[in-house]
Amino acid sequence: MTSLRYKRVLLKVSGEALMGGSSYGLDGTTVNAIAEDIAAVTRLGIQVSLVIGGGNIFRGVSGAAAGMDRAQADGMGMLATVINALAMQNALEKAGVPVRVQSAIPMASLCEPFIRRRAERHMEKGRVVIFAAGTGNPFFTTDTAAALRAAEMGCDALLKGTQVDGVYTADPRKDPDAERYEVLTYHDMLARDLAVMDAAAISLARENKLPIIVFDIHEPGAFTAVMKGEGKFTTVHER
Ligand code: UDP
Repeated sequence: MTSLRYKRVLLKVSGEALMGGSSYGLDGTTVNAIAEDIAAVTRLGIQVSLVIGGGNIFRGVSGAAAGMDRAQADGMGMLATVINALAMQNALEKAGVPVRVQSAIPMASLCEPFIRRRAERHMEKGRVVIFAAGTGNPFFTTDTAAALRAAEMGCDALLKGTQVDGVYTADPRKDPDAERYEVLTYHDMLARDLAVMDAAAISLARENKLPIIVFDIHEPGAFTAVMKGEGKFTTVHER
């Protein structure tokens, strides 16, 4: 599609975004709604890949805080992302989109292992690729996995679907005077410690000149609007 700015993107969705109104796990209605929006973007002709977090099920830091070995707990966190990836694969397939899950931790009877060239081929064929199990290493987050895979796959943008429609001067759910930034630099994000993505992910995006676009994943149709340059979002790029 020549009129669209982006040909290939990676969308990062946190595990918490899949919980709906619950405090744990997966909410089918919410997963289906996000899948519908992703399906709509694929119909624009944009190649879409996904990284989904695992915070709705298990986070390594919580396990470590409760006395677990951190690397062991992170292994559990990475497995949580595989559960979410399989749920999203199911929802996307029901929405009519072909999907392949590739895991950084091989588990051959459930999904493919991560193979960059193979993932590339899937995307060229119009399949959504979900990169599961983070980076496959403890002490990382799925934000970093998202920046890593987006860079590896030659994506034009890294989308971060959050609970609010961009990056604000303060938490807009707590502070009525909070204002949304239209544009920010990577440096602004890092220097102001804006809690949207972790520093490793932002640095990786910066090194690879990968714009980060922050938008509200729960706003129906917002992903499509952002891809058309419409609606509300914050773009993070170099000056
Ligand atoms: N994780 C990991 N290595 C990675 C990515 C994730 O060990 O490369 C683990 C880590 O324990 C993390 C959990 O998986 O807490 C879930 O990921 P994350 O916290 O990023 O999920 P989100 O906050 O996006 O739901």
